[in-house]
Amino acid sequence: MKPVRRASKTLHSVRKSKSEKVIPDLLKSWNGIAAQIRRRGRVIIFLDFDGTLVDIAPRPELVRLKPEAQDVLRQLAKHPLATLVVVSGRRRAELLEHIGVPDIHYFGLYGWERDDHCALPPDAQKALRAAREALEPLLRKYPNLWIEDKNSSLSVHLLHVAKARHEALRKELLTVLEPFQRKLHAVGNIRDVEILPRSIPGKGLAVKEFLRDTTVKKSLPFYFGDDYSDESGFAAVGRGVSVHVGKARPTKARYRLKTPAETAEALGRILGVLDEIEKG
Ligand SMILES: [Mg+2]
Repeated sequence: MKPVRRASKTLHSVRKSKSEKVIPDLLKSWNGIAAQIRRRGRVIIFLDFDGTLVDIAPRPELVRLKPEAQDVLRQLAKHPLATLVVVSGRRRAELLEHIGVPDIHYFGLYGWERDDHCALPPDAQKALRAAREALEPLLRKYPNLWIEDKNSSLSVHLLHVAKARHEALRKELLTVLEPFQRKLHAVGNIRDVEILPRSIPGKGLAVKEFLRDTTVKKSLPFYFGDDYSDESGFAAVGRGVSVHVGKARPTKARYRLKTPAETAEALGRILGVLDEIEKG
């Protein structure tokens, strides 16, 4: 009995402290971060895209990467002491188009789509098509709702639905998806619900696999993300530097930043430390 009681108490206290704790601002903690980078000598940086590198736009295709952010990404990507991975819910081709920087690892669909040859098994595709049809009545009930068919997942966008209706809508959505739960799962994000085949497990696993397989074991890992789907990524970098970007909310991340512009600033500072190390 004892270990069980202890475990549940720990879980409770962790949950309580996570929601109450104000985590430190990354830029204000910079001296400590710079010292860690110098100690390890190189970095692996995982970056979410929407809400982390770019401001959210009314529709996904309208986002724009600012030239200063693109410039620092370009310099970091070719830096001998840095490895960059963009891991997003978007398709890989879209990430390439929006960011346009070579020498970055682009992981689409929550880290599952790592090259141009990823294809879903036919039964997962069939389940997605059936789920899309089952969601049709919800589109009539909530006229501002729209469903983006990403071909290997469905994004149900809530951005234009009144906030007061979100909770009811999320519940209805899960009820509609119940018959598909053997083949599909839903990931609740801030502005959308993503319906994914079970074979696409989420960002955390992609990050863990990349860290396990990388030849550069001693790199200091960073993970920058804004959404609930980034929480598994924060956890996956462990004692590395996990950074929640955006309005404060309970999170597993160890640091925070307010905006994508601050993400670009932090990347610039990382670059500065790496340049110093390189020059010796
Ligand atoms: Mg995001």
